[in-house]
Amino acid sequence: MEADLVHLRESVYEANMMLKRSGLTVLTWGNVSGIDRDSGLIGIKPSGIPYEQMRPEDIVLVDLDCHVKHGLLRPSSDTPIHAALYRQFGAIGGIAHTHSRYATSFAQACLEIPCLGTTHADVFQGPVPVTRALRAAEVQADYEQATGTAIVERMSMLDPSTCPGILVRQHGPFTWGPSAGAAVANSIALEEIAAMAATALALKADTPLLSQHVAAKHFSRRHGSTAYYGQPGRQ
Ligand SMILES: [Zn+2]
Repeated sequence: MEADLVHLRESVYEANMMLKRSGLTVLTWGNVSGIDRDSGLIGIKPSGIPYEQMRPEDIVLVDLDCHVKHGLLRPSSDTPIHAALYRQFGAIGGIAHTHSRYATSFAQACLEIPCLGTTHADVFQGPVPVTRALRAAEVQADYEQATGTAIVERMSMLDPSTCPGILVRQHGPFTWGPSAGAAVANSIALEEIAAMAATALALKADTPLLSQHVAAKHFSRRHGSTAYYGQPGRQ
């Protein structure tokens, strides 16, 4: 196997283990993928394998149509969702999916997460959106494909670089980023944002939204050409 694909497998394995260490996922729940854009191959967690037993060579490599190209195990059952997002968003390099407690609670309540403070604004420009309900025929025809379509539809007026995640209605969050590791970092950030929003709203139901001028300032400090947070040249 070419060095690039070995690297893809290792980076996706590491990102899956990072997700496990984060505590955002239990049992075999959750999955992380990454893509090598040159070959068009996605590396993704195998279906139903405990994280503790997984090895880098177990990461399944599939093409953008979900055909297995390398690997002996079945890929995650959510693979068509990941593939739909990679096809639509050419700039993303990794995707993570969890059922983390607070983000999933907002998804189950069918509530977007409002931007109530600067922690949220550092990561998301605007609220964290929620997808629409799926129709019975869509679920019966191809559930995972329909879920991917619903995410793409909801993101149609949004930029995946300023909105690095979404809540799938009554299911849970998907996040993305330039790499598989960055997607996991956004899952961790999203869970903190969701927990803080849920707590603030429990303390005060009419907690005000963060003002637009402070929200825009916080996002632009960290992202884009005007960023000045952190150290130049370091991730
Ligand atoms: Zn799920």
